[in-house]
Amino acid sequence: MLDDLVIKKILCPLCQKKSSLKASNPYRPFCSERCKLIDLGSWGSEQYKIPTTNSEAEREWEENETNKDKDND
Ligand SMILES: [Zn+2]
Repeated sequence: MLDDLVIKKILCPLCQKKSSLKASNPYRPFCSERCKLIDLGSWGSEQYKIPTTNSEAEREWEENETNKDKDND
């Protein structure tokens, strides 16, 4: 029971997202197959872009730029 509490929640070694060491997570200790593959480097030679939250960050950046323009008024 104690073991279950301890290993219940961990952070993915790669992206630091919440992960699980439970047997129900086939990619443990990683949060997903993607992180596991990245760590293994099995796709290092492929031109595969990691879908991160960059697009969201860029969108926020654009919004900030737009707001700046408005401030000039
Ligand atoms: Zn991860």
